[in-house]
Amino acid sequence: MVSCEHVLNNLSNFIDADIDPALRAEIETHLKTCRRCSVLHDSLRKVLIIASDERTFEIPSGYSERLHDVIDEHL
Ligand SMILES: [Zn+2]
Repeated sequence: MVSCEHVLNNLSNFIDADIDPALRAEIETHLKTCRRCSVLHDSLRKVLIIASDERTFEIPSGYSERLHDVIDEHL
């Protein structure tokens, strides 16, 4: 079983599908059973979708720092 920390460290690669298939499967399983990781996965995915859909959209400065604060709080 992968740890929460391991999942969170690989979340952006997971969302980009830029990840080893075996690890991807492990993260998928983890997200189904771990609410805090699944909430963070949802938030990060929405941000990345907005960022890729809107070329003019800029992620507010400090967003990634806040995201890491949230991740730290949950670990
Ligand atoms: Zn977790």
